[in-house]
Amino acid sequence: MNEEELGTDLKKRIKEVLSGSLHIRHVDTGSCNGCDFEMSTLSNPIYDISRFGVSFVPSPRQADMLMVTGGVTSNLEKALRITYEATPKPKMVLAIGACACGGGVFGETYANAGGIDPFVPVYVYVPGCPPRPQALIQGILLALDQYEEVLKRGE
Ligand code: SF4
Repeated sequence: MNEEELGTDLKKRIKEVLSGSLHIRHVDTGSCNGCDFEMSTLSNPIYDISRFGVSFVPSPRQADMLMVTGGVTSNLEKALRITYEATPKPKMVLAIGACACGGGVFGETYANAGGIDPFVPVYVYVPGCPPRPQALIQGILLALDQYEEVLKRGE
C-alpha cells in the first residue's frame, strides 16, 4: 500500500470510528529523538496527515491517542503515568519504536526501565529504530480497529 492509499484508508477509518477526527498527544519518555523526528514528518508538506483528520494536540485531556517514544527513563516515568491518567477514556496507546516497545538499544539500566508496557496498557507496538512514517500510519490503523471493538463492547 503506498502513502496515498494509506492516507485514504486512514481518512475512511477515522470517519467510521471517530466521526472524522483523531487527536494525538505525543509523549517522549526518553527517546534519542529519532522516533520523534519521524513522527514530526507526518505533519510536513509531504505527508500532511491533517488532511486525513489527524491533529497533534498539546494536552492529553484533548487526546484520543497517546504516541509514546523512548524507553521509560526514571525522570519521565511519573510524567507518563500522569499523562495516561489525564487522557479521557477510552484511550489508545501506541508504543513507537524499539525503545518504547521493549527497551531497544538502551535496554534496561539504573536510569531506564525499558519498554512502556509495564506502566501503561499498549494497543499497538510499532517496531523500528526509528519506524518509518508509513509504519506509524499502519499502527494508527491497527489501533482504530481495536478501538472500534472497545466502543462496541461499551468499555
Ligand atoms: S527506537 Fe531508535 S530512533 Fe527511536 S528512540 Fe530508540 S534509539 Fe532512538
